[in-house]
Amino acid sequence: MTELAAVLPDDPLRDEIEQFARTHRLAERTRALDARPEFPWNEFRAMGKAGWLGLTMPPEHGGRGLPLRRAGVLLQEFGFQTGTAFAKLSLQPEFSSILAAHGSDAQRLRLALPLARGETLVGNQITEPKAGSDLSLLTTKVEHRGGRLFLTGTKSQVAFAADAQTAIVYARSDRAGATGVSAYAVPQDVPGIERRIIGDLGECWMRRGTVKYASVELSPDQLIGEEGRGLEYLKVELTHERALLGAIYLGVARASWEETVREAGNRIVFDGPLSDQEAVAFPLVEDGTRLAAAWLYCERVLDRLDRGERADDAAAMSKWFATDVALTTIDHAIQFHGGRGYSKELPHEQRWRDVRSGMLAHGTSEIMHRVAARRRWPKGRRSPGRRP
Ligand SMILES: Cc1cc2nc3c(=O)[nH]c(=O)nc-3n(C[C@H](O)[C@H](O)[C@H](O)COP(=O)(O)OP(=O)(O)OC[C@H]3O[C@@H](n4cnc5c(N)ncnc54)[C@H](O)[C@@H]3O)c2cc1C
Repeated sequence: MTELAAVLPDDPLRDEIEQFARTHRLAERTRALDARPEFPWNEFRAMGKAGWLGLTMPPEHGGRGLPLRRAGVLLQEFGFQTGTAFAKLSLQPEFSSILAAHGSDAQRLRLALPLARGETLVGNQITEPKAGSDLSLLTTKVEHRGGRLFLTGTKSQVAFAADAQTAIVYARSDRAGATGVSAYAVPQDVPGIERRIIGDLGECWMRRGTVKYASVELSPDQLIGEEGRGLEYLKVELTHERALLGAIYLGVARASWEETVREAGNRIVFDGPLSDQEAVAFPLVEDGTRLAAAWLYCERVLDRLDRGERADDAAAMSKWFATDVALTTIDHAIQFHGGRGYSKELPHEQRWRDVRSGMLAHGTSEIMHRVAARRRWPKGRRSPGRRP
């Protein structure tokens, strides 16, 4: 049977992740976080100390400086060993990599390094009640009045609404022209900020929610990089994130798949193992094939990005495809474990709920298709034979 494990590259750090996950009981902690959502500060700090935060971030910014492809292998392993929570935490410095790439020395020292050490949590606030997929609709704004700056607007659905100590807020600056969006590092404990948590289907520990800014005063040194270039910076970060997130979901699905393959070999029905039933065995063979194929595609995309090729469309395709394959695989795990598969006694239902976020966060699956389609058929281009 083709399986993902057979096509994964060996890496000594994979063994270290397994050991770290066992020592800190991360798989159990992932289950507990579902029942009692909170930010796992102890584990976050331990990950920082052990060098598991910011795998691709340069060492001078607290990371390991690994190529994206190798980081993908390791994030897959985190997903396999622990579920999505700690794999995504490992990516947290990458989610804020514009700090390291474009921030001032002070911002790097105050935010990027402590984030990679697990000492502070930085969230990202892009989405608004009327602007998610279409970022041209953002209305949160920064106004310059009498030499002072004021931030006003509402960010919604953002992860770590309750726990982030600082957020990178994307807002229109009145000095950057009609289309210019800038990124600002905004402490979350200053006057004029109101935070509200919403309940979620999965990944509840992220405590997503709404953050309102009512004329919050900023200082000029809170601007990250240049005014009006926020979305341009974000695009590069998002491409890397999308390619790496696929690796996490495939790792989580591998865990469910391997457990289901074992179950199918052990459970006796109608005088033989469940695996004798082709209705069960064939979908499992297909899932194993798809997991391996999706991984090889994901790895290839990461490799292309490492070589500096433009691959935003491939990263988008890799994310929707990996998420789709992972969800189908976990769904079969629920089904072929019978009634227990649907219960909280087994991890599959939580894995399904957690991975389901992959069709929405960091760009929805539809938007991933749109990114790929736009690359093939750039908007506004007409076929040469078309009459006006
Ligand atoms: C778990 C999770 C964590 C998140 N974390 C953050 C965070 O930390 N920070 C942050 O800023 N945001 C975060 N988000 C929000 C997320 O980025 C948005 O939900 C997402 O971008 C979609 O935007 P929307 O919800 O406004 O949906 P809309 O953009 O209104 O879309 C609604 C539906 O229409 C579809 N659609 C929209 N336009 C098109 C189109 N052109 N073609 C085809 N279909 C289309 C969408 O795919 C979707 O199915 C998070 C979301 C989730 C689920």
